[in-house]
Amino acid sequence: MNGSALFSRLLVRLLPLLPKRLVRLAADRYIAGETLDDALSMVRTLGLEGIAATLDILGEDVAAPAAAEAAATAYSLALERIAANELDCNVSVKPSQLGLKIDRELCCRNFRAIVSRARELGNFVRIDMEDHTLTSPTIALYRELRRDFDNVGLVLQAYMRRSIADVDALAPLVPNFRLCKGIYDEPRALAYKMPAVINDNFTWLLQKMFDGGSYVGIATHDEALVWSALREIERRKLTPDRYEFQMLLGVDPELRSIIVGAGHRLRVYVPFGAHWHAYSLRRLRENPRMASYVARDVTGRFVQRLRARPELQQHGQ
Ligand SMILES: Cc1cc2nc3c(=O)[nH]c(=O)nc-3n(C[C@H](O)[C@H](O)[C@H](O)COP(=O)(O)OP(=O)(O)OC[C@H]3O[C@@H](n4cnc5c(N)ncnc54)[C@H](O)[C@@H]3O)c2cc1C
Repeated sequence: MNGSALFSRLLVRLLPLLPKRLVRLAADRYIAGETLDDALSMVRTLGLEGIAATLDILGEDVAAPAAAEAAATAYSLALERIAANELDCNVSVKPSQLGLKIDRELCCRNFRAIVSRARELGNFVRIDMEDHTLTSPTIALYRELRRDFDNVGLVLQAYMRRSIADVDALAPLVPNFRLCKGIYDEPRALAYKMPAVINDNFTWLLQKMFDGGSYVGIATHDEALVWSALREIERRKLTPDRYEFQMLLGVDPELRSIIVGAGHRLRVYVPFGAHWHAYSLRRLRENPRMASYVARDVTGRFVQRLRARPELQQHGQ
């Protein structure tokens, strides 16, 4: 393990001990706030830059059916506020937040309620993909929803060895996909570990999705992947009704502007909610790499503040 990986792991272990205020400082730019109003205000700001959004109400792994139902109600309310404010924004939902780990039927019922409300309002629901224990149940859920709804999409992860076979198996449904690398720490037997292989697989999956006629949300901040996607788009002369780029709130706004400036559609993933603390810790624990992004970010901001205050530099503080 190199020095930076070791530092990330150490940071992850220390995080739960840190005061909430400090974790919030690290997480702040990645989270729109605690309330739906905070999130809608962020969506409006993004809209002014010509950027679409997808709302994620933070929360996952719920253990009680009532909590899963409450999450479904919160999503329906969010869809209503999006419609009332005429925002260019859909929603992204984690199956474990709607009860997939408790009861498959309960989860499916909750999803039906959201997707059906979204259809009435002319909107769309993306089913996020979680760790490998939920891959098959999530795909089964998607298949079931597609029997009655078209306004629902799925995520596939380029690090999963099975994803190529999943694209083939799902081809008859011509799904609306989001393609991402994958954020969970998966066993090597199931997931590619080498960054170069994950990137090659990302491009291969993207090609297959386009071959099958799918609409693809290309979710990455990796410029090499953005470039290979742009090459595919150009080579195939794809129009904006076939793809969009997607990025996480707070990550590489410069790349975001470059993509939008070049005339491509871009959607930002906007997480918000009361569970921001648990979410941030879990995300950081699951992916120590993320801890190093955060550490770099906090250090960078600290240095920036120092540079902006020359009197501090002079006194060596
Ligand atoms: C819109 C969207 C939706 C997603 N949905 C899912 C999902 O449903 N399931 C799932 O498993 N994963 C999801 N992810 C996460 C994804 O799988 C990756 O883990 C994440 O996007 C980082 O991979 P990357 O392609 O950006 O490449 P990386 O090589 O990891 O990152 C490229 C560069 O982007 C920057 N960067 C990336 N992530 C961060 C970050 N969090 N903070 C700060 N800087 C960062 C770094 O500078 C890095 O060098 C989603 C990602 C996006 C953008």
